[in-house]
Amino acid sequence: MKNWLKIHSVLLLIAVLTACTQIMPTETPPTARPTVEPAETPPTPSPTAEAAEIPTSPEKWWNETVFYEIFVRSFRDSDGDGIGDFNGITEKLDYLQALGITGLWLMPINPSPSYHGYDVTDYYAANPDYGTMDDFKHLLEQAHERDIKIIIDFVLNHTSAKHPWFQAALTPGSETYNYYVWRDTDPGTPGPWGAQAWYRASNGQYYYAIFWDQMPDLNYNTPEVRENAKQITAFWLEDVGVDGFRLDAVRYLVEDQKIADSDSNHSFLAEWGAYYRSLNPRAFTVGEAWTDNANVKPYISTDTELDAAFNFDLSDAILDALNTSNNTLLRFVLQTTIRDFPDQDNANFITNHDMNRVMSQFSANKEGKAKVAAAILLTAPGIPFMYYGEEIGMSGAKPDELIRTPMQWSNDSGAGFSNGTPWEPINDDFPIVNVNAQAGDPTSLLEHYRALIQLRNAHPALQDLSLIHISEPTRPY
Ligand code: CA
Repeated sequence: MKNWLKIHSVLLLIAVLTACTQIMPTETPPTARPTVEPAETPPTPSPTAEAAEIPTSPEKWWNETVFYEIFVRSFRDSDGDGIGDFNGITEKLDYLQALGITGLWLMPINPSPSYHGYDVTDYYAANPDYGTMDDFKHLLEQAHERDIKIIIDFVLNHTSAKHPWFQAALTPGSETYNYYVWRDTDPGTPGPWGAQAWYRASNGQYYYAIFWDQMPDLNYNTPEVRENAKQITAFWLEDVGVDGFRLDAVRYLVEDQKIADSDSNHSFLAEWGAYYRSLNPRAFTVGEAWTDNANVKPYISTDTELDAAFNFDLSDAILDALNTSNNTLLRFVLQTTIRDFPDQDNANFITNHDMNRVMSQFSANKEGKAKVAAAILLTAPGIPFMYYGEEIGMSGAKPDELIRTPMQWSNDSGAGFSNGTPWEPINDDFPIVNVNAQAGDPTSLLEHYRALIQLRNAHPALQDLSLIHISEPTRPY
């Protein structure tokens, strides 16, 4: 049975890649359908019936999971203030369950002065824009009732400049002074991408901040900072009950002779990894190590640091294949992915909240290409992550606010996102591009996604591709 499923899945992969080469060179009409048949109708899948067949270890539930990344501010506004919230996500859990989603990644949910939330002012609280901690716990409980896990963004590298730690640190000698990295004079050395990394504070000294002057880097050589990171971890895993974390900017936590991917960085993650597993061995962590897979691999290959890490190479390769009508790079990256991540602990995605949306990266035959991209994502070895709105073909190109616009649920005013004034204008195409317009239409992108997700959920071989090799060992396809 298992072998048959694996053969079946490899045949599907071949079919998908063949579809890839067939669709791309010609101008297929936008309604072109790949080889996978959409599911009959979706209402409510029965994940429990299928779960019985899944042979993978229950400890590694993430290999069986299809994740969906949500920017809370933009998903669904339940109270009409124009800002998406926890209760809005709870309202939409049935939609997510019917789509086949079994894991959610919520972008930062902590209080923050910024709309995006990546500069945190309190790691132990919920962002009041999004609701109360009780609202969040209710969401978590309702998600768990539907067998949907929730992981949250954990911003370990830096705090907000408005965080009380940094405000106190402005006084040399204060308790939190060494939580940050200070110099008396400007070192003038650049950050990891060559940008300015040292800024003058109101105390006349210079602090290290690689992303933005409002995001001072924490100093992980200070034991209290490591302790705080652990306490925050314990709070969310034990007191609140989340299922894990997406770790932001994980290459840059600890600097030594190197300012990215340093040995000290790996040591700290091993220390932190041992800590969170001691609290909950089933907690899941996925890291944003935005680099090539050769440098991503050490974050997960020892099984002591993170459980998974994002496969940026595959994102690039999917987009490249569809834009150049040439799958050479894609085939190479799929093969090296299998080689480098034999446990399928690579987290795959087409685009995320830092990239132009996939529909805005294509010129012609956008929907056909989006369907092929979906097919690659959901059949490739690894853990798939979708970005909210990707399943209906939402558009958006930078600046960042425009790749994080409100979800388009319907053609009603406010797009079914909000009864008030949305925090950010909704895309003009919402009367046509929305969930209601596509649900139940077997030719739609949404139903194509649903069919692929159901297929993946139903076939263990697509989740745990401990690979069979059809002809020669190095060429699984
Ligand atoms: Ca709201």
